[in-house]
Amino acid sequence: MKIASIIVDVPAMQTDKTYDYLIPDKWCDIVVPGMRVVVPFGPRKVQGFVISLSKKAEVNKLKEIDSLLDLTPALNEELLHIGKWLTEKTLCFTISALQAMLPSAMRAKYEKEIRLLDPSKRSELNPAIKFSFEKQDVISWEEASEHDLLHIYQKDIKKGLLEVVYNVKNRSNKKTMKQVHLQLSMEDTNQIIEELPASAKRQKEVLQYFLVNNKPIFLKDLLQEVSVTDSTIRTMVKKGYLREKNVEVYRDPYADKSFGQTSPMPLTTEQQKAITPILSSIEDVIHKVFLMYGVTGSGKTEVYMQAIDTVLKKGKEAIVLVPEIALTPQMVNRFKGRFGSRVAVMHSGLGIGEKYDEWRKIYRKEVSVVVGARSAIFAPFENLGIIIIDEEHESSYKQEDNPRYHARDVAIFRGQLHNAPVILGSATPTLESFARASKNVYELITLKERVNNRALPSVEIVDMREELRNGNRSMFSSLLFEKLTARLERKEQSVLFLNKRGHSSFIMCRDCGYVANCPHCDISLTYHRSHHSLKCHYCGYETYMPTTCNECGSEHIRFFGTGTQKVEEELAKVLPEARVIRMDVDTTSRKGAHEKLLREFGDRKADILLGTQMIAKGLDFPNVTLVGVLTADTMLNLPDFRSSEKTFQLLTQVSGRAGRHELPGEVVIQSYTPEHYSIELASHHNYDGFYQSEMRIRKAHAYPPFYYLALVTVTHPELTKTVDVAEKIAIYLRKSLSNQSIILGPVTSPIARINNRYRYQCMIKYKNEPNLNRILKGILDRYQREIAQNSLTLSIDLNPYIMM
Ligand code: ADP
Ligand code: ZN
Ligand code: ZN
Repeated sequence: MKIASIIVDVPAMQTDKTYDYLIPDKWCDIVVPGMRVVVPFGPRKVQGFVISLSKKAEVNKLKEIDSLLDLTPALNEELLHIGKWLTEKTLCFTISALQAMLPSAMRAKYEKEIRLLDPSKRSELNPAIKFSFEKQDVISWEEASEHDLLHIYQKDIKKGLLEVVYNVKNRSNKKTMKQVHLQLSMEDTNQIIEELPASAKRQKEVLQYFLVNNKPIFLKDLLQEVSVTDSTIRTMVKKGYLREKNVEVYRDPYADKSFGQTSPMPLTTEQQKAITPILSSIEDVIHKVFLMYGVTGSGKTEVYMQAIDTVLKKGKEAIVLVPEIALTPQMVNRFKGRFGSRVAVMHSGLGIGEKYDEWRKIYRKEVSVVVGARSAIFAPFENLGIIIIDEEHESSYKQEDNPRYHARDVAIFRGQLHNAPVILGSATPTLESFARASKNVYELITLKERVNNRALPSVEIVDMREELRNGNRSMFSSLLFEKLTARLERKEQSVLFLNKRGHSSFIMCRDCGYVANCPHCDISLTYHRSHHSLKCHYCGYETYMPTTCNECGSEHIRFFGTGTQKVEEELAKVLPEARVIRMDVDTTSRKGAHEKLLREFGDRKADILLGTQMIAKGLDFPNVTLVGVLTADTMLNLPDFRSSEKTFQLLTQVSGRAGRHELPGEVVIQSYTPEHYSIELASHHNYDGFYQSEMRIRKAHAYPPFYYLALVTVTHPELTKTVDVAEKIAIYLRKSLSNQSIILGPVTSPIARINNRYRYQCMIKYKNEPNLNRILKGILDRYQREIAQNSLTLSIDLNPYIMM
């Protein structure tokens, strides 16, 4: 008997293993690993993934697979393998890992259909199923299953004649349009035109249109072509002249845009030097990780594209990851411009259906390049020749839900499997990556010059404490105001950047810039309203809330943060003639809004672009000659040991937006702590200096890259229970881990309560704990009953990026 081992869609500790099911004889030759099936599970029917097949002579009371969801595997062997690896690395359930690799359309409820790919090949279909497609190109899955002919459909799917498509049930995700067909023969049409009374002039015109064009047309186009109304068409449908049909339109979000074809540019000497080792890695089919450290505007993207070109010429495929926030139309256009329809694009701005369509292009090998955000790393290519992660320092490459994977780790794992190079590109690499490159774990490639030797913009730092002392209470320093005014006069454009306010509140002295830090952890203390105290969220250190500044005695010590809206209002007051475009989560939530605003700015319909993080990256406007950073301090004072690094990265990115073309650029950074090394060094474009300083601090406080981190967060509706479990875990960890590891906590999380659940955390700092995953898994096991009852949650984040 043939047996399938199946992972069922019941995400719980007890069910996180394979279950054996009998494959009914009729599907014996159909079922392969990676397919999704429906199986009886207790009283329910659940979805599951076939993991492996086996043959057994004896099968005691095994249940049978109930039905099939796929005819070709949803996950190929490699992705199943990656799923297993993810499960071990991130301590998630196998089912979560498997689901994470599929587009959400395949996770949602859907209606399945089998579709004829090329109607001109209808005659090549297997005779047993040909009848189904005689009059239509699409049949429902139910219809196909009726006659137990699934194995035949499967054969024609393999031949490329048919495909299975999933239509998401949610109507808003399924894009259909009304199409109008002529229901009459040509003779009949001619005759009816003769017979119709003169008053039916419009109807005659419609029929004439079909006589000339003789093919179906979308209703909306027809209404334009012959300028008739909806009701005319409805009448003709009633009379049986015409037929209306809802057809699914192929959702290509980029379809109606033309991309000017670009060709490879002659590389600069530096670019040539950069691409050489990458090309040899491609040529020799050897996996290597390259860290491409290149200043903004040094032409990294051109290097990526030429490396991809080589890969494509070898008949292989490429994955390019860009941060969600940088998936701007400008970036997409560059890849589409070079590789045209061979590119699929995947980002969260697409609808579920659109994303699924893009995924399907990859699955069917209709494209060979995918440009996408984090999850595009799971693109089902089978012959990968290169993986590129642009802006490798971006924290959005880490997924914050289960499976808590980092796309960089998956990229390197896949790179090894395919013997393909992985390129990590950035102007401000993470300390972890740069340290690895320094130790030759990664190969370092450096691009020091901007293309055409355009100068990096000059950066001036304004001390906002000084402004206050001089009586300027506005959010614009006199220098920034002066420069903004000059841009208006010269009809050049400016970008104003405001750091997003952090989740937690820190306090700062407006007179001297003093921020209270934890003496043990070097992160800012967080204000707690309930106790009116300041607290460290790593180690638990607590102190009273000062009424005067510890540093200078000033009473101007207060919370910090300003919204974009407030800045916009103030701009309207002080520069009423300036046309401002504001870009933040509020103005860009509507689909396409992001793109529209950028286009308007590109068309010079505004003088100032004001925004948050989302404008920091990837923008390239020739007319922008001034970038202003309103408050460099906001990010610096998040309770996060990476806050200096993030500040440095952000300031560098933002500065890179100015003066990318002929006009030279200027940058003004406003700060209350201008002497801070991350601000100071960013203003001199001094990454190496920043790296040295920051590494010393990381070493002194035992942070990455000197130590690895793991964060265990406990939540429960009752405070005592939360503390109790967190304490037990901390004790157990102290007992089980080597004395080289440091266990901090338990302590309340920076966000102390969410949804009426208390949150406590323990942080583990370690260098080498071969048994760590096993020990952590043991903790999960120990509490599985309470977790299953949903009273307790335990989340374990290995290499956390968000410490909230
Ligand atoms: P990065 O990705 O490092 O920020 P880009 O790839 O965006 O840099 O390059 C900056 C600008 O220089 C772009 O406008 C790009 O078209 C141009 N560029 C890149 N390489 C070359 C080259 N070899 N010759 C001419 N222009 C180039
Ligand atoms: Zn002070
Ligand atoms: Zn501390």
